[in-house]
Amino acid sequence: MAYVCELGTGQRVYLDNQGTQTIVTTYSGSSGQQQQASSSFQTGSWTSPPECFRTPSSVVLKIKTAQGEHYIQVQGGSMSVMSGMPSVGSSQQMQVQQAPSTPASSMPPMPPMEPMKPMEPMKPMEPLKMGDMEMNTNPMEMRMGNMEMRMGESMSFSTPAQGSKRFCPQCGTPLNPSDRFCASCGNRIQ
Ligand SMILES: [Zn+2]
Repeated sequence: MAYVCELGTGQRVYLDNQGTQTIVTTYSGSSGQQQQASSSFQTGSWTSPPECFRTPSSVVLKIKTAQGEHYIQVQGGSMSVMSGMPSVGSSQQMQVQQAPSTPASSMPPMPPMEPMKPMEPMKPMEPLKMGDMEMNTNPMEMRMGNMEMRMGESMSFSTPAQGSKRFCPQCGTPLNPSDRFCASCGNRIQ
């Protein structure tokens, strides 16, 4: 449970007990330009709500723990532990109210980012076959029925008319796919 003490003139001091630490946070200035200072002190667990006193020169926080009483002097943004309560006669006790939490600690700290996992190297793709379609990745080529596509330094697209051009084994004359005999020498094409 945190406590807040309004010191007036826009200054507030928050006290929080986390474990055996007393965390003191002071806020001063207007809402637009707030100055914040925070210190933590090893005091032990509180046994009663803290008390706040205003002395002519500073603010003194009285912390009661099982180990005894602790006094923390707040002067502006600086805080220091005092050995004892100074000049009690001239100090004025301030009202200390319960606060839901110290504003600075109301937001949970961001969990540390997990380091990015290195990308797994791409597995070489298996040649993909679908019916009469065939794809290879190295080099990128695709065959579909009688058509063939290849992507590499240059992209080529071939059809049987060009890609599987046949020549007469006898005389070397180019043949049409439908030819059964060579038009030049009459050689029978298998
Ligand atoms: Zn021929």
